[in-house]
Amino acid sequence: MSSPIIPFSVPDIGEREIQAVTECLRSGWLTTGSRSAEFERNFVKFLGEGVEAVTVSSATAGLEIALAAHGIKSGDEVITTDYTFTATAMCAIHRGAKPVLVDIDPTTFNIDPAKIEEAISPRTKAIIPVHFAGLACDLTAINEIAQRHGLKVIEDAAHALPTRCNNKMIGQGTSDATVFSFYATKTITTGEGGMVTFLDPAAAKMARSLRLHGIDCDIFHRNTAGRNGGGQPWRYDVVAPGFKSNMSDIAAAIGLIQLQRVWDLHRRRAQLWAAYDEGLAGLPILRPPKAAQDDLHAMHIYCIRLREDAPLDRDTFVAEMSKLGVSCSVHFIPLHLQSYWRDKLGLSETMFPEAQKAFECEVTLPLFTRLTDEKQEFIIDSTRRLLS
Ligand SMILES: *Cc1c(COP(=O)(O)O)cnc(C)c1O
Repeated sequence: MSSPIIPFSVPDIGEREIQAVTECLRSGWLTTGSRSAEFERNFVKFLGEGVEAVTVSSATAGLEIALAAHGIKSGDEVITTDYTFTATAMCAIHRGAKPVLVDIDPTTFNIDPAKIEEAISPRTKAIIPVHFAGLACDLTAINEIAQRHGLKVIEDAAHALPTRCNNKMIGQGTSDATVFSFYATKTITTGEGGMVTFLDPAAAKMARSLRLHGIDCDIFHRNTAGRNGGGQPWRYDVVAPGFKSNMSDIAAAIGLIQLQRVWDLHRRRAQLWAAYDEGLAGLPILRPPKAAQDDLHAMHIYCIRLREDAPLDRDTFVAEMSKLGVSCSVHFIPLHLQSYWRDKLGLSETMFPEAQKAFECEVTLPLFTRLTDEKQEFIIDSTRRLLS
């Protein structure tokens, strides 16, 4: 048998999603409308009441809107992790603010709260923690630091659906805002899309305006209502320097079905995760850390680390897996190794020893709900063959 070609990630789109999109296309309403509003309501129900949810076109847009809605502006500093995707820090640049990057905890790859404390200056206004792979950051420590220094906390939860920490779902309101991604590789997808949950209804209201040109929503709704009542449906008022980052109802139609499937999808991820944990035992690698007893890990990506006594280095391992037909990835190439960030912030490897070490030995194996047991077995066998 020739070896199978196993992609890194495939979205899990079923007939129900296709049906929902078809219905939306036939409905005559494609842009942000009733499906988006229903997606927001169901998202809040899923997490637990107490927050407001706002759909956006991506997590990247959501991060920028969350910063803007909380007044982050030119001259401010925002602390985040070096070990993340560029979008986590770029949102600050687009606000005219300066991202201040700090190193990670070597066990979890999450931001190290002690390093946050050291990075605080009189200009610091916010912290953006990232729940790496779907494992919650130390939010108790982060929120305590934020409270003591009067900082906003805006969580990058692109990996963290569903994640639970301290008896609360991530996004349920331990922080000022929480930003989820529905990019094609994430735990649920709308193709492209995102959701931001807010603790403060005023910030949510601002976000609703900012995602759609900075148009006053109340006037917008008054006039849609007025359409039947003989009002002035053409009238609107621009009240803020807004973006064009709203979610289409086509995307929301997919999201509504995907959200119903969250626990089923999570169950499959947990099966695959456990099979990796068992199948990769005894190799010269570190398997991913587990969530604390009562917490829940979203299990978005399965990241292994090659130990120093492994027979291959990371780059060779990924290349050999690719020859066998298995597409692996690396999370992340830290920001200090990206030219823009290195030059803009004057960064070097020695400033982030843990992120540098993590990068050099990390490999992400394929983990997606459509991965069959047979194909996963092939990935495990290939890994064992290369590393034994
Ligand atoms: C995917 C991802 C993003 C960006 O999400 P988009 O919806 O594609 O904008 C941001 N942060 C992290 C950590 C991510 O993995």
